[in-house]
Amino acid sequence: MTTTTTTNPVICSRCGAECSKQDGWTTGYATLPGGDKVCFDCAAKHEREAMIEDGHAILYLTHDTNGKWQVGNWSGRLTFPVIWWENSEHSCFGGYTQRTDAWFIGPDGAIWHAKNIGDMDAARCRRTRKKVMWGYPRSGGPGAMGSGWYTKYTSTYTGSK
Ligand SMILES: [Zn+2]
Repeated sequence: MTTTTTTNPVICSRCGAECSKQDGWTTGYATLPGGDKVCFDCAAKHEREAMIEDGHAILYLTHDTNGKWQVGNWSGRLTFPVIWWENSEHSCFGGYTQRTDAWFIGPDGAIWHAKNIGDMDAARCRRTRKKVMWGYPRSGGPGAMGSGWYTKYTSTYTGSK
C-alpha cells in the first residue's frame, strides 16, 4: 500500500469523499490491493476488516504522543494501545538484533501478538488464541508502569481461526 501526493482530486472509491481534502496537512490517498483508490479513513476500515477476516496483518509498532507503545497502520488512522510488551535480543547472522514483542486487543476482541525485529517499525501481527492476559493499563494512575498493579485483559473473540 502506498500514499501519493497529488494536486488533482482523487475520489475515494468506497465513500466518495475527495481524498485530497481528508487531512489538513497531507494530501493523498491509499491504493488497495485491488487497485481501488480510497481515502485514509476507508483504508483504515479496510485494514480493520482484513484483520478480522485474515487474523494477521503487517502494522507498525510506534509510540503515541505520550510515549506509550501502540500498534497501528501506516496512516495512524487505525491504532491499538499495547497492553504488554517485552524486548529481547535475537541472534541473527552472527550478530544480535533487537526484538520487541507486543500484545494488544485487536478489532475482533482477540488478544493479538505483534513481533518487531531490528530497527524497522513494521511489525508482523497475528491473532492469538490466548483467552486472558495481564498487562499494564492504558493510562497512568493506580496500576501505572512499575507500581505492581496489573490489568486483566480478556479476549472476547469467538471465531474459529
Ligand atoms: Zn473513503
